[in-house]
Amino acid sequence: MDYRRTYVRDLFSMPPGSSTSAYGWVKTRRDSKGVSFVQLSDGSCFRDLQVVIEAGSIPEEQLKLLTTGACVRFDGEVVASPAAGQAVELKATGVEVFGPADPTHYPLQKKGASFEFLREIAHLRARGNTFGAVFRVRSQASFAIHKFFIDRGFHAIHTPIITASDCEGAGAMFAVTTLLETPPHEEPEAVLKARPYLQDFFEKPAYLTVSGQLEAETLALGMTNVYTFGPTFRAENSNSVRHLAEFWMIEPEMAFCDLDGNMNLAEEFLKEVIGFLLERCAEDLEFFNQRIEPELLTTLHHVVESPFERMTYSEAVKLLEASGESFEFPVSWGSDLQSEHERWLTEKKVGRPVILTDYPKEIKAFYMRLNDDDRTVRAMDVLAPRIGEIIGGSQREERLEVLERRIDELGLPKEAYWWYLDLRRFGSAPHAGFGLGFERLLMYVTGMKNIRDVIPYHRAPGQAEF
Ligand code: ATP
Ligand code: MN
Repeated sequence: MDYRRTYVRDLFSMPPGSSTSAYGWVKTRRDSKGVSFVQLSDGSCFRDLQVVIEAGSIPEEQLKLLTTGACVRFDGEVVASPAAGQAVELKATGVEVFGPADPTHYPLQKKGASFEFLREIAHLRARGNTFGAVFRVRSQASFAIHKFFIDRGFHAIHTPIITASDCEGAGAMFAVTTLLETPPHEEPEAVLKARPYLQDFFEKPAYLTVSGQLEAETLALGMTNVYTFGPTFRAENSNSVRHLAEFWMIEPEMAFCDLDGNMNLAEEFLKEVIGFLLERCAEDLEFFNQRIEPELLTTLHHVVESPFERMTYSEAVKLLEASGESFEFPVSWGSDLQSEHERWLTEKKVGRPVILTDYPKEIKAFYMRLNDDDRTVRAMDVLAPRIGEIIGGSQREERLEVLERRIDELGLPKEAYWWYLDLRRFGSAPHAGFGLGFERLLMYVTGMKNIRDVIPYHRAPGQAEF
């Protein structure tokens, strides 16, 4: 057995008359007079292969083992299919059953199991239509993202996963410690109290990273255009459908680039990655459009085809105030926009993706470049129809005195930022970048409503099975 062989996806383009083998898992078997039909899937594409088994072509005791979930190889001949929706099927001449699946115990029996239930058997759900499609799209999206940046000469960098600085206060952090590796007779709490951090592995408090941005900035101010695409951790203590404790983030950073350049990159990025997926994952996306989110293809094509509108936060607030809509959260200058406001702007007001810029400094991070008005910063949020914010970014503050003043105003520990400030002390440059949660992008592209369903194994409060 070699990985270089025919997959189910290859079979569909083989001419009738070819003899071949098909490996995979049985989705269903249907018996009628003198013939059985097996739907076989190997995850290589959305479509299942129909295998036709005429009576007597394989031994009776083998046929009995062909139940949902069984893993098999069929040998046979590709034939033109009389059934609608498929050009060819496989007429079986032989079978090998690698692993039967006892129908009285196999958990993935019935069609239409809820996503909640499938999350509990996440180790098996990749065998079904929806999750096969989700994980194929995830794979292609990951490739499209690397391709987008590498094609433009960006350098892929890997920022640390363990960090000693909660640099942006982006979210609650997970501590990393070896102090809890105590002999069984010692209470972990007592040990933590008794031993100062100096005795811990890193000799200071350490955490799982909430963002690679600050480290990415250091590499951009030396290598010009870089991006990091890696795991990120936030101890989000909620059962939100949009938050995970472990997710993947894409963070490009560019030297000699201002907010306009940053907006151009974000727009090109979304258009190219989504365009790539519309082409490469057409069958999977068609399925999501039919079964998960009826507006899916319309909104995705819309993002690819229409130029993004650009306006300032202040302009957006004026539009919202004049909208006459009754929002659940009232809007006024200085308040953070809620997803209902973002959706109204992009769906109802503008009818296209919108990039909002120049937010009040109070609602944005300390590292964003201060505007001359002293009230707003060069931040940008990209809003897309159907979900609202999809990308957040900014031009970074490159002026040492201004950055130090912001850090002081916010009462952040300046000493911890010595290396970040060094970048402004020595050879500072205008620079900008953005961040985008990979799973949020996948939710957008697939229409899946719960972020736990676009990652193979989700991490959330109380959820670390598998
Ligand atoms: P939110 O308001 O949705 O919590 P945030 O403002 O905390 O987001 P940022 O700090 O700007 O998010 O992080 C950058 C991106 O990372 C967000 O735009 C989002 O796509 C993604 N993201 C943030 N938190 C999570 C999470 N817990 N799970 C998955 N993705 C996340
Ligand atoms: Mn958050």
